[in-house]
Amino acid sequence: DAALAIPADATPVMAQFFEAKARQPDALVFFRMGDFYELFFEDAQKAAAALGIALTARGTHAGEPIPMAGVPVHAAEAYLAKLIRAGFKVAVCEQMEDPAEARKRGSKSIVRRDVVRVVTPGTLTEDGLLDARGANRLAAIAVRAGQAAVASVELSTGEVEVVAGSKDGVAAALAALQPSEILVPDRLFADEGLSAALKAVGGLIQPMASALAEPSAAEARLKRLYGVSTLDGFGDIGGAEISALGLIAAHLETTQAGKVPVLNAPRRAGEADAMAIDPATRASLEIDRTQSGGREGSLLAAIDRTLTSGGARLLASRLSRPLLDPARIEARLDAVEWMLERRDLRRRLREGLKGAGDMARALSRLALGRGGPRDLGVLRAGLACGETTAALVAAERDLAGGAPLEIAEAAIALTPSAHPALAAFLALLNQGLGADLPALARDGGFVAPEVRPELDQVRLLRDDSRRVIAQLEGRLQAETSLPLKIKHNAVLGYFVEISAAKADPLFQAPFNTTFIHRQTLASQTRFTTVELAELDARIAQAAERVLAIEVETFEAWRAEAVGLAAEIQAAAESLARLDVAAGLAEWAEDAQATRPIIDRSLDFDAEAARHPVVEAATRREGKPYTPNDCRLDGAGAAIGPRLAIVTGPNMAGKSTFLRQNALLAILAQAGSFVPARRLKLGVVDRLFSRVGAADDLSRGRSTFMAEMVETAAILTQATPRSFVILDEIGRGTATYDGLAIAWACAEALHDVNRCRALFATHYHELARLEGRLAHVGNLSMRAKEWNGDLVFLHEAGPGPADRSYGVQVAKLAGVPPAVVARAREVLDRLESQTASPARLDDLPLFAATAPTPVAHAAEPSKVEAALGDLDLDGMSPREAMDALYRLKGMM
Ligand code: ADP
Repeated sequence: DAALAIPADATPVMAQFFEAKARQPDALVFFRMGDFYELFFEDAQKAAAALGIALTARGTHAGEPIPMAGVPVHAAEAYLAKLIRAGFKVAVCEQMEDPAEARKRGSKSIVRRDVVRVVTPGTLTEDGLLDARGANRLAAIAVRAGQAAVASVELSTGEVEVVAGSKDGVAAALAALQPSEILVPDRLFADEGLSAALKAVGGLIQPMASALAEPSAAEARLKRLYGVSTLDGFGDIGGAEISALGLIAAHLETTQAGKVPVLNAPRRAGEADAMAIDPATRASLEIDRTQSGGREGSLLAAIDRTLTSGGARLLASRLSRPLLDPARIEARLDAVEWMLERRDLRRRLREGLKGAGDMARALSRLALGRGGPRDLGVLRAGLACGETTAALVAAERDLAGGAPLEIAEAAIALTPSAHPALAAFLALLNQGLGADLPALARDGGFVAPEVRPELDQVRLLRDDSRRVIAQLEGRLQAETSLPLKIKHNAVLGYFVEISAAKADPLFQAPFNTTFIHRQTLASQTRFTTVELAELDARIAQAAERVLAIEVETFEAWRAEAVGLAAEIQAAAESLARLDVAAGLAEWAEDAQATRPIIDRSLDFDAEAARHPVVEAATRREGKPYTPNDCRLDGAGAAIGPRLAIVTGPNMAGKSTFLRQNALLAILAQAGSFVPARRLKLGVVDRLFSRVGAADDLSRGRSTFMAEMVETAAILTQATPRSFVILDEIGRGTATYDGLAIAWACAEALHDVNRCRALFATHYHELARLEGRLAHVGNLSMRAKEWNGDLVFLHEAGPGPADRSYGVQVAKLAGVPPAVVARAREVLDRLESQTASPARLDDLPLFAATAPTPVAHAAEPSKVEAALGDLDLDGMSPREAMDALYRLKGMM
């Protein structure tokens, strides 16, 4: 950037800025100047626009004023949050020393400054910048020798994981993580499939030099990050995995400016560990957020009863990656059931969890040098809560015999006697950390008395000063018989002050040997004495010493916490696991959910099941929710069809029914109870949900194309173990096209993919697939006419819908009665004239279903003729009304 070449005549401070900017060219530089972070040049213009703050100027550069904007340091976090959300990266360039130190080096010296951190969406650690109940992940992808890997780190908690698999699986793996920032080697950008997948996932995409993903470079960086000399401890880790992790290590090195976060060893997962759920399916099922983006109204929000941030994040992570291994699922279910059966224990445990705080994030801030005494306070509260919790569980175990593994493991990680160092650390914090904790160590006042004897002494000296000063003042007044006072300010320190009119005696013998003149103001004269100056120095030193000891103590405790990082993280995770088990039990009780039966069959057998979100909404309106059964059988037709065609009028509950069953699979495999009287589920390896696009015209014409692309993905990826729900596929195009596509998709699902599937459609012709294809069956959502009105029963039953009730729905929607009546008439005529079912089965398949044009009907009646002559667009409401009366009169 030519404009930023360091000019020879730049002031020293500006030269410092140019240097920082040159190292972080694509970040906004927050340049610390005293109490402000200042931005210059283009950075200032961008920030001023994004933050709505004033753009001013400071000095000149190349003859032009330098644009400048600034934010106060104490309010910087809010501005940072806004900039990060707007898609910027921010390099924080701090003053690295006290201005006094710089002055000591010489009158021309300026304060040293350095970039201490680059803030990006994926590397946030501050509570103010993070959603406490959601993870904030930084992900990286790499491809090597045809293998792909997705690595991710949650910097604020230290969790690291890496998933290896095929390139096709990258989108689903990323979608499960929902990273806020994705590192991508330059070279992979050219890959169209990948870049489309990345766009679907969302998050800031950060290109990285491909060289950073080279195996040897990546390995070296990874070793440095973990401080290990070999990666053997990570198991048999593949080339793509190392490359992806290496990208993360490189990004952390630059953004954290050399500070090393505490990270767990990478947890490795295969694609085969978790149910694959692609981004479109996640969006349509509203698993952890609704289509409009909010958490409220999602499945997660409906079932989340956790009380800690760590628990909330763990639940979200489990829900976004349901398991495949029945044994691991059972282990989670055991824990929920154990908690469900122990209401009293659960109540006490949850009471305790309320005070637990967010240990994982506090620890991470401490490790990165951004923490303070308050973070130690969070560890103290969390570890204490862990002790109580472990004791509660232990007492219960003594009463009731063994606890499930998930509970027992967590309790052991929290039992102090099992971790002497952790227990000692907690005791240290209990004793040493005060009650009122500042955010920053240099604010002082957080080390409790009787912890460091020297600290108590200097504090005494500092606090005693008032008394000693008061004594001295009294003595000087007595000696001089003058109304003098001892005061303090930042420039002079302590001084003697007397009104100018009465100061004279102090300039005369004998007092002039004691009183040394310092300053004369308009009405006051100020002196000091040798004794006062000594006292002043001692008090200043004491205050400085108090602070130094406190900061030193904080550093020692901080180091101890970081040394115990693994144990503290394990404790945090254990609390989160207990919170999740107890929370799910709480929800299961509220929602009358039951334990699912999980096996490796291909059954899907749900009895009296409910949709947790729609049910809650329905009940809020004071209406009952109708539970529904759904039996599918992937292996044969023993308990039901493999593919069910679901028909029924609009608003009858088809979509709800489809989603409800997909959600049951997610809940069950995530290890939760399910809202059903009974569910037997053969594990689902991939879940797909697609909704026809016609609903959303605002998204533009390519929606039908998008719908077909997504449908194609299902037809290529669904396996016999998959579960597919298709809602009104084909609706986005002309009738015949749509019917043809829907028909062909149903056939392919049945013949090729052979997966369990629910296929909702308004093409009643599809009902004819039953009987033609071995494993297709019809289901319909019941509705009935009552007194000419349509009543939805929301009840799924066998067989196709007898009719579509479109006319009745039109009536419900407020279409004028005359038009509804006319529609009914036309429909009756059509129905009496259309081909018989026998002819429908003839080829060509769909020709027979062509609606007979109204013109083929019998001669129009007088009313019809008159109706046909009306120019509706040219009529005023008044004329329309008159016309209606006229028509009515003709009947
Ligand atoms: P469709 O897809 O057939 O047009 P929806 O699934 O969108 O119908 O359901 C329409 C509305 O009916 C829902 O918003 C909900 O209020 C209600 N509904 C659906 N299923 C049920 C049910 N099982 N019990 C009670 N109300 C239901």
